[in-house]
Amino acid sequence: MTTQELAAGWSFDNSYARLPDVFFKKQLAVPVRAPQLIILNEPLASSLGLNAQSLRSAGNVDVMAGNRVPEGAEPLAQAYAGHQFGHFNMLGDGRALLLGEQITPQGERLDIQLKGSGLTPYSRGGDGRAALGPMLREYIISEAMHALGIPTTRSLAVVTTGEKIVRESLLTGAILTRVAASHLRVGTFQYAAALGQPEALRALADYALQRHYPQALEAEHRYLALLQEVIQSQAKLIAQWMCVGFIHGVMNTDNMSISGETIDYGPCAFMDTYDPATVFSSIDRQGRYAYGNQPSIGAWNLARLAESLLPLLGEDEERAIEQAEEALKQFGEQYHHEWLRGMRAKLGLFHAEDGDKELILDLLGLMQTHRADYTNTFLALTFGQAAPGDLAAAPEYVRWQERWRERQERQPESAEQALELQRSSNPALIPRNHQVEAALSAAEEGDLSVMGRLLEALADPYAHRPQQCDYAALPEPSNLPYRTYCGT
Ligand code: AMP
Ligand code: MG
Repeated sequence: MTTQELAAGWSFDNSYARLPDVFFKKQLAVPVRAPQLIILNEPLASSLGLNAQSLRSAGNVDVMAGNRVPEGAEPLAQAYAGHQFGHFNMLGDGRALLLGEQITPQGERLDIQLKGSGLTPYSRGGDGRAALGPMLREYIISEAMHALGIPTTRSLAVVTTGEKIVRESLLTGAILTRVAASHLRVGTFQYAAALGQPEALRALADYALQRHYPQALEAEHRYLALLQEVIQSQAKLIAQWMCVGFIHGVMNTDNMSISGETIDYGPCAFMDTYDPATVFSSIDRQGRYAYGNQPSIGAWNLARLAESLLPLLGEDEERAIEQAEEALKQFGEQYHHEWLRGMRAKLGLFHAEDGDKELILDLLGLMQTHRADYTNTFLALTFGQAAPGDLAAAPEYVRWQERWRERQERQPESAEQALELQRSSNPALIPRNHQVEAALSAAEEGDLSVMGRLLEALADPYAHRPQQCDYAALPEPSNLPYRTYCGT
């Protein structure tokens, strides 16, 4: 190890590499010509026990470009499967490598993955590479999600490779260093189940329990407990997405994590005007992953997890199916509970009352009818301002506000407390598509200042600073709906 690497504070272990070897292929990154650090997440670096200054050194830029393996790391491509738009495929990291787990000063164990690191045995027809735009996009949106308080993989750095990659045009090649609680996916379990090796499946399940739900190891039926824990984490996660208007875009089972973090930012986006049918992804022609479908798709994906775990749920198959179905039923209830809680908080409501759901749905219905901006409607309600667009003048909206005011007055908490709850539940800004695009275009031209300012505003979305108001501006009206393209 070089002194530069030593000073950076890497502290690797790769516990995943101790799983049965069907789960990975050890593999080095394909070296790149001229790595250059574009952005480094200093606060994240320091929480990982890494020294930012040293990470900027050539030796560590080489680490984040895949040109050099730091001591203790064991690069590998993970195997997994997945239902992609409903179709089952055997997959695996086609353009990513897990270096290992960084052990943080707090004793946490976090995956360090290079995304865009070159060909692997799972690359199929792809080139193993990623372009600068989509990697910076993942950086911006994942960090915005984290600041919104939503579980997510994080972004430590983006380096350019000094090489061009071929897409519709020639693009700048880049590699993202991604940090995750783990990269275990629903699809990892589908892969294990498809192999038909119960011992491999059991080892994977024990590993997932160990890493994410150690308390469930004590349960009488630990694999059922694992299923229940993942169901609960996903119910919470998807409810949080819905509350901020986030659309993942590609909720394939390989893009759903066991830890309950948002993972694999491809054609994702935040909704502007409220409409449950909103789809941004150019590849989602049927609207399978539209905003309003996310809870039911979550349930569908979890049913695939339950099926994969069946061999571990006991000898008696009928009983196992019953238990899995019972667990899956919980998803709907938990999701609904979390969503109601989140939406109540956005309205400054502390406790449940009959009729809350109706109150919320009526507001959403009005937003939809009047094509009101989702985030800005909640901001207007928080700060007593006029609602966006036509909504402000709609008589039904005036009546709705009256109902809401009465509902607030019935609670014991003060108006100040309600305001505080609303401020901390309604972000001043979200990464709006047109602003993200502007930041990416400037970055691709070598100007990182637009992205820098956007990241700074997004880092503290509940601060409600005056400067953040600039970002509440809506996109220019356009006849073309916004489309995000897969980061391939
Ligand atoms: P994603 O849509 O990024 O979640 O990727 C779906 C699958 O395709 C994963 O197995 C990826 O590793 C693989 N993949 C995506 N892009 C590429 C690429 N450029 N080269 C090789 N594999 C890729
Ligand atoms: Mg993926």
